[in-house]
Amino acid sequence: MNIPFNVPLMSGSEIRYIDDALKGSTFSGDGKYNHLCENWFAENLHVSKTFLTPSCTSALEMGLILCNVGYGDEVILPSYTFTSTATSVVLHGGVPVFVDCDPNSLNINVNLIEAAITERTRVIMPVLYNGICPDMDAIEALAEKYNLKILVDAAQAIGATYKGRSACSYGHLSAVSFHETKNLHCGEGGALFVNDSSLIDRAYVVKDKGTNRKAFLAGRVDKYVWKDKGSSYLMNELSASFLYAQLEMEREVTKKRRQLWTNYHELLSPLEEKGHVQRFVENSTSVHNGHLYYILVKNESVRALLQDKMKSDNISCYFHYVPLHNSDGGKKYGRVGRSSTMEVTDSVSNRILRLPMYFLLNSVLQERVVASIDSFFR
Ligand SMILES: *Cc1c(COP(=O)(O)O)cnc(C)c1O
Repeated sequence: MNIPFNVPLMSGSEIRYIDDALKGSTFSGDGKYNHLCENWFAENLHVSKTFLTPSCTSALEMGLILCNVGYGDEVILPSYTFTSTATSVVLHGGVPVFVDCDPNSLNINVNLIEAAITERTRVIMPVLYNGICPDMDAIEALAEKYNLKILVDAAQAIGATYKGRSACSYGHLSAVSFHETKNLHCGEGGALFVNDSSLIDRAYVVKDKGTNRKAFLAGRVDKYVWKDKGSSYLMNELSASFLYAQLEMEREVTKKRRQLWTNYHELLSPLEEKGHVQRFVENSTSVHNGHLYYILVKNESVRALLQDKMKSDNISCYFHYVPLHNSDGGKKYGRVGRSSTMEVTDSVSNRILRLPMYFLLNSVLQERVVASIDSFFR
């Protein structure tokens, strides 16, 4: 039997909530299920205000408008990330400035951020790989010192915590993804969490095609007009009803995925002792959500052979990001920050292998995955 890399989560109540949404009279972005989801985030993630969006990518784009990023403005981000982190910057005429990553978490190396700051820097964009936060106190101190905004790419971070609080509640703004590859999803979807309350009023305008629609509907102004930059950053009710069915399962999903993660970790311990693989070292400050399990092997050719061997055992494993500073788009639109040699990013991106991880995975299948890795190294 084949072991897939990912199986999108189904909670079972999606159809019931979609059916209920169909019985209503609102299908656009202001209906019952948008509000139910927003309340869920307020109660469970302690974020001040949620805007559901069509994707995490669009949430990042919206966040950068709120940070006033325009032509020539620089945004600091890791090179080891998905393209959206950088394309959202470039779309506004900004310049992504790439920083090397930490060899354990594969997150931005916080010690290299200050050297990358210039007079044009406006925003720091940390990416929470596997829901792990870099040292947010250090990033907040830099933002304060240089008067920068923090927009967190928390695409993978629902269910993860940092210092006991949701990992999504850090930064002035934070964006998550509900793409089908994430722990919770609605096919395609996302959300922007506005943690800095001074940005909320403008966010309503930006998400609603730059209009004062909200103030108009509330009777605060008598004309519905164009006010500011904007786009259509709304999630329709059918997606929101699907998403709500998944949010209700968040605790169960995070708990199960963390168990699966720990199980891999224990099963792989002997292979690390023999020096064949390297595992992530956990810490108690930043608690991941079991979004992904990865190992690092010696080099790219070992990885290719291991991946082939696992494929022949019917197990799907993948590597991950091609570093943005090496990609065509990155060379054209971005640049590497001062002091970042990109040594770590280049090395880990060639050595990483992600193992199958999804809610319906179980320990029997995990044992098969690890047995395949073990037999490769024998
Ligand atoms: C998945 C992901 C995105 C993109 O999310 P979409 O909802 O597909 O736009 C962006 N950044 C990171 C780090 C991701 O993992």
